[in-house]
Amino acid sequence: MKIRDILEREKFSLSFEFFPPKRDGNLENLYTAIRELILQRPVFVSVTYGAGGGTREKTVEIASKVKNEFDQEVLAHLTCVQSSRDDIARVIEELSAHNIENILALRGDPPKDEEAFRRAPGGFGYASELVEFIHTRGDFSIGVAGYPEGHIEAPSLEVDLDNLKKKVDAGAHFIITQICFDNKHIYRFRDGAHARGIRVPIITGIFPIFNYRQIQRMAALCGAKIPPSLHDKLDKVSEKDEEVQKYGIEFAIRQSEDLLASDIAGLHFYSMNKSDHVLEILREIQLPREG
Ligand code: FAD
Repeated sequence: MKIRDILEREKFSLSFEFFPPKRDGNLENLYTAIRELILQRPVFVSVTYGAGGGTREKTVEIASKVKNEFDQEVLAHLTCVQSSRDDIARVIEELSAHNIENILALRGDPPKDEEAFRRAPGGFGYASELVEFIHTRGDFSIGVAGYPEGHIEAPSLEVDLDNLKKKVDAGAHFIITQICFDNKHIYRFRDGAHARGIRVPIITGIFPIFNYRQIQRMAALCGAKIPPSLHDKLDKVSEKDEEVQKYGIEFAIRQSEDLLASDIAGLHFYSMNKSDHVLEILREIQLPREG
């Protein structure tokens, strides 16, 4: 089923993101986490593509298993990194052959040894071009990325929102937002999107913090600021993993509750392939569909 159709029908969307593990030995742990989280009846589960050096081939394999064996709607991420349009067409065909109807269309980050993103020969330079291309390859439901604090390469949030509009105009059906720890950015981003006539659902990404160093690294990479109050609190307990995790869960609960009170279209949990933190958060919050 297409996520765009489900989002039209449902007033709220719950979803979880997973990444293909670097080592095959960790696949079983991944599938266990997915099995545990799909009991929460998400609208979809998403599988990343080549992020952080992960393998690309595994995305199709994992997404197919989730869709066809676990009977769970799936969103396969796809990037333009080092790929010609023929390479991308082949991945889209493979996804289609596995019954996968939903794609998160991304430009992707430059490979580790390169400073700036470079369009591959015969490839795409922006996610909006990928959105257009996917539409020429079949009837897919397409999501794109949104950046509440502006994309790290964009000169301003305003310019980045103008570029987000291009993705929606190219035919994106929904937006999933990047990690962000301060809801005021999320509301400003939503207002800016609405002011530009963007009407597709904006699903908010939530990252449950469970390791201080990891979150500092990730926040720096994706341009998310850690608010001073959160930084101070985590800094004090940084050597005590259990306390970091406890506070990370409390923080995500408060952040989610505030977002839910502001009528957001959905929560998308960056699970980091673990179920326990997300389950603890879900136990404490009241999702609109249950209300
Ligand atoms: P774009 O929308 O193309 O934007 C890239 C930059 O170009 C922005 O600064 C934008 O403002 C600018 N821009 C866009 N269009 C134009 C234009 N026409 N003219 C001038 N400037 C323009 N990465 C992975 O490798 N794998 C994943 O699975 C993955 N999943 C993600 C999931 C989510 C929910 C999010 C938020 C990000 C994900 N990423 C993933 C990271 C993403 O690939 C990077 O953030 C990347 O740097 C930008 O991708 P994009 O699709 O947003 O690019």
